[in-house]
Amino acid sequence: MVGVLALQGDFREHKEALRRLGVEAKEVRKPEHLEGLKALIVPGGESTTIGKLAREYGLEGAVRERVEEGSLALFGTCAGAIWMAKEILGYPEQPRLGVLDVAVERNAFGRQVESFEEVVEVRGLGPFPGVFIRAPVFRRLGEGVEVLAELGGLPVLVRQGKLLASSFHPELTEDPRLHRHFLELAGV
Ligand code: GLN
Repeated sequence: MVGVLALQGDFREHKEALRRLGVEAKEVRKPEHLEGLKALIVPGGESTTIGKLAREYGLEGAVRERVEEGSLALFGTCAGAIWMAKEILGYPEQPRLGVLDVAVERNAFGRQVESFEEVVEVRGLGPFPGVFIRAPVFRRLGEGVEVLAELGGLPVLVRQGKLLASSFHPELTEDPRLHRHFLELAGV
């Protein structure tokens, strides 16, 4: 079964993207909602809010435990990717899951380019419509982290085992390929 973390952000768009692939995703708001899940999507939104709520609802520890034992695959988009990171540059106190071995830089494209669309070349998939909204980039990648796409030489899609994280928002496009790729990765 597949879940979408539904605390804040664009979880409905992820549910819709999965529905287009014939998958009915479960909304996750409490630790008990993780029962039986093989895959969890963490949406875009506001990473500080997502982090605070996840901690408050006991989801931070419960998700981390499952990821560390290898039973749960994660796909984080934008704020979701920030939440997954081990390090958030400039925000050492921000609550996070801390499982993806990267340092992430929030709002890395600057305030003057708050949002933009750019085609990114995804390894194995080809050109993909990248929707970037106050997007982060991945820096200081750990050894097990593979770069699947870059923009202007900066990593914007990375993978570490069953963890997938993007700076951009595939859920805001009609293109199902990254969601499908994640389901394959998760073995769903
Ligand atoms: N910049 C936001 C943050 O740091 C993320 C933006 C997004 O998810 N589109 O939380």
